[in-house]
Amino acid sequence: MIELPKNITPSPSVLNELKAFQESIDKLNTFSERSAKAKELFPKKNTKSNATFKEVKKKLTEMCNSTRRCVYCEDSLGDEVEHIYPKDLFPEKCFDWGNYVYACGPCNGPKNNKFAVFKQEDGSFAVVNPPKGQPSTQPPTGKAALINPRTEDPLQFAILDLSGTFKFFPLPSLSANEKKKMEYSYNEVLRLNHEEREPLRQARENAFGMYKARIAEYVHKKKNNAPLSLLEKLKDGILKESHPTVWKEIQRYYRMGLLVKVDEELKQYFDEAPEALTW
Ligand SMILES: [Zn+2]
Repeated sequence: MIELPKNITPSPSVLNELKAFQESIDKLNTFSERSAKAKELFPKKNTKSNATFKEVKKKLTEMCNSTRRCVYCEDSLGDEVEHIYPKDLFPEKCFDWGNYVYACGPCNGPKNNKFAVFKQEDGSFAVVNPPKGQPSTQPPTGKAALINPRTEDPLQFAILDLSGTFKFFPLPSLSANEKKKMEYSYNEVLRLNHEEREPLRQARENAFGMYKARIAEYVHKKKNNAPLSLLEKLKDGILKESHPTVWKEIQRYYRMGLLVKVDEELKQYFDEAPEALTW
């Protein structure tokens, strides 16, 4: 799961149009009416010919660093405008620009309307989506128990094990609620470690080797005084690869002094090109 840049916003006119769509939901009296309206209205507006959503998709693409990988799995093409807060549980966020990401079908489909909160009244964890086939009811007030890649850095919750499993684990420093949030997000909702999604784990392992090969090439060219334009191109290639979390984790392992234990050669490449630690 990737942390998305926070400085990308559609034009004020597009934001106003989203607001107008939203008002037609918010003006309804009951939760069930608002929930039904959100479900009905969103697919009508989110079409190829709708100018507002054309701009929304353009801005979501910019967020994905031009290769448009799914924000959750970082592997497939992100081709669905996905609501982080499901629209039938949170109809007040149906046309909220801050609630959108680009995701792929295999992530978005099973995620569906899964959501949980830590209830305001006692801090307890509560799944708020209804059992399958039953209508949504208004969720209790509370903080989201699902990591939000628009506002949070998933790597503040998870560590990717680069030493062999290429699975995500909770960071050891987390509080009990943060650990629950990590496990709910990675394992229950997105299933990024699940055996059904083994190809994703393999792709992360493969990405590790690919990043190593790319940084090796960069270091080699740098030593041979390659022109700056070529070095920039190699840097760009790294930043446009899939599974950017693997790259971010390699950098963090280096900073924590752990990379030498995983791959001494790769550690040396960063010694020779420390600028790559900030990419
Ligand atoms: Zn995905």
